[in-house]
Amino acid sequence: MRSLSKLNHRLNIVGCGLSGLSIATQLPEIADELLLIDKARGPGGRLCTRRFEDKRLDHGAVALFAKEEPFRSQLVGWHKEGVLLDYYKKDDVQYYCANSGISALPKHLAKNLNTELQQRIIKITTSKEGLILHSESGNTYQSKALVLTSPAPQTMELLANSPDIDSKQIEQDLAGVVYRKCLAAMVLTNFDYRLEDERGIIFEPNANISKVFDNQLKQRKAGNPALTFHFSEEFSDKHFELTPEERDAVITQEVRKLLGSADYQIQTHRWRYSTVKNTPFEKPILVDAEHPIVLAGEAFSNVGIQAEAAWNSGLAAAALIKSKLTLN
Ligand SMILES: Cc1cc2nc3c(=O)[nH]c(=O)nc-3n(C[C@H](O)[C@H](O)[C@H](O)COP(=O)(O)OP(=O)(O)OC[C@H]3O[C@@H](n4cnc5c(N)ncnc54)[C@H](O)[C@@H]3O)c2cc1C
Repeated sequence: MRSLSKLNHRLNIVGCGLSGLSIATQLPEIADELLLIDKARGPGGRLCTRRFEDKRLDHGAVALFAKEEPFRSQLVGWHKEGVLLDYYKKDDVQYYCANSGISALPKHLAKNLNTELQQRIIKITTSKEGLILHSESGNTYQSKALVLTSPAPQTMELLANSPDIDSKQIEQDLAGVVYRKCLAAMVLTNFDYRLEDERGIIFEPNANISKVFDNQLKQRKAGNPALTFHFSEEFSDKHFELTPEERDAVITQEVRKLLGSADYQIQTHRWRYSTVKNTPFEKPILVDAEHPIVLAGEAFSNVGIQAEAAWNSGLAAAALIKSKLTLN
């Protein structure tokens, strides 16, 4: 990753998740004049890995997979480069992980790109020269064109807070994007528990848990397991608004039900927007033609689902930007 050299770019991209990175990698002609801005400490968005003691645990996306081209070849390419590892195969579809956690992929993609992290964008204004992003900490970022790749409700909030942008109709459409909630837990055990599945992942062991996987096996590492639990949609909906203490208690109870009542270290996390359930969008859309603002991200592609959709929306958004900006 390169640090910011100037505050005026040809293209600003809000969101350094897979869709933002997909756009940026498609525009090498303007790589120096493009800036990815994210509120998080690192790139990747929902492709994220968290350090817990001496272990690295994926707690968002579990595995990357493709239903069709071009993402299928893209995954094979990252596998050949050594960024991705084979994880498991199901119904003839190859699933991939990464050897130091799934965030290895966004880190790899962001390596030579300009990024500005830990900046939450709260407002967009316009000027004769273009579009200006305002961050919570008071920074401004100007560009000729803009892409927003935040989850739809966050994009909706940003547009609603930006009276310079005429987006009433689009805000209504954005309200039609529905996400699944997901409660997650990261669990370290002090004993050598092994999930019976040799790949280190089990699906739906009971109605409350959608999957459990061992990050140590995933990363081909020895040592006690480092488990990630993803809870079912129904369980997550039911317990999502509990206080953190209440949530930790019900989750700990579920972990004990599955693993027995030994000692664990547990961290829990709430994903308000985990994966898209319904979307009215089939592709990225253009909000304002005078100063191009493109909306992209997982919810803006009808090709593939989840990470595949995010990547494909980035490809389509890059094509849209190319048609709106004179690139040289
Ligand atoms: C629990 C869970 C399990 C999943 N499992 C899988 C799986 O197994 N396989 C799979 O393919 N997919 C899975 N997914 C979905 C996959 O992670 C997403 O489809 C994909 O990562 C979405 O990429 P994106 O770039 O569209 O969005 P994001 O990754 O959400 O990126 C958007 C970025 O925008 C940033 N942002 C938002 N608002 C602002 C703001 N105002 N200012 C600055 N930055 C902002 C965020 O910090 C984020 O980095 C899972 C997701 C979760 C949460």
